[in-house]
Amino acid sequence: MTTPPAQTVPPLVELSGVDHVYPGGTHVLHDVSFQVGHGELVAIVGPSGSGKSTLLNLIGTLDVATSGTVRIEGHDIAVLKERQISALRACSIGFVFQQFFLSGGVSAVDNVANGLLYRGIGRGQRRSRAEAALRRVGLGHRLEHRPHELSGGEKQRVAIARAVVGGPPLLLADEPTGALDTASGAAVVELLRELNETGTTVLVITHDLELATGLPRRIKVRDGRIAEEVVPA
Ligand code: ADP
Repeated sequence: MTTPPAQTVPPLVELSGVDHVYPGGTHVLHDVSFQVGHGELVAIVGPSGSGKSTLLNLIGTLDVATSGTVRIEGHDIAVLKERQISALRACSIGFVFQQFFLSGGVSAVDNVANGLLYRGIGRGQRRSRAEAALRRVGLGHRLEHRPHELSGGEKQRVAIARAVVGGPPLLLADEPTGALDTASGAAVVELLRELNETGTTVLVITHDLELATGLPRRIKVRDGRIAEEVVPA
């Protein structure tokens, strides 16, 4: 019996020669190329206006690059249909933003359970998975609290639980500590580390050099170009 050839797993994220120009002509990204492999914990760091959020939108499949190639799990985003992009995004990418974007008046557990809507999962299952995700982020004692009854750090934990409840391989965090005090921010970074240690690939977008310095790999962006890469030894 012959052994089948070993399958090579494509990088989780692959940008190749990416340029992005917004309608109106602002040329924001110039020839950006890098890869992020499964299991990495990476900071994309740069000053305000350098193009970080634009990069996040492209990696998160929320926008399509003007030229060059963006591949997620080996799929070239430019050739996928809208329906396929939505499915890829829903299954493979979790998002965390500075402003949390929780639904007001809705309990923590329902905010997280809503992250599983449109996944063909029944209500009971959605709730039990949401409870498990909240316990995972240390909020098992805050299940029924609504956003206004939670601290900033706790709100961000709920948002992280919502982002990971469906088990996406990739977590994109855009300035996740930007609205938090130092101690809550450090706790959120620690939580992202723990999620990474249990297998989630985490990409943190930040202008905070101190936060970035604590992460094993940094991709520095300046004026829409990759200025420097610091990779683990
Ligand atoms: P960062 O996240 O590093 O602050 P952004 O990616 O948000 O950088 O922005 C980079 C540049 O692109 C800025 O000059 C910004 O004004 C411009 N920009 C961002 N979004 C748009 C848009 N939708 N239309 C036009 N220009 C934009």
